Amino acid sequence: MVRRRGIYEVNVIGKPLVCLFCEETRFRHREVFVKLTNHEPGVQRKKLTLQSFSCITCAHEMKFEERELNGVSTIEYVQVGD
Ligand SMILES: [Zn+2]
Repeated sequence: MVRRRGIYEVNVIGKPLVCLFCEETRFRHREVFVKLTNHEPGVQRKKLTLQSFSCITCAHEMKFEERELNGVSTIEYVQVGD
């Protein structure tokens, strides 16, 4: 598990991430791995890497899959605190 130290403001596909509950815009980051369950025989289970952001005020957590869109990452981090 990878964890970025510090507090971040985050843009997801160019839009600022805002907590749904308290409208906080600062988050702590960690990376989480999710195994997708697959019941098809002979097909390997897929592993998904998600970027998880937890609100520094109410701890609500939001997770996103980071992708590249036209060569640019869909998630942009701006460190705003330690
Ligand atoms: Zn919040």
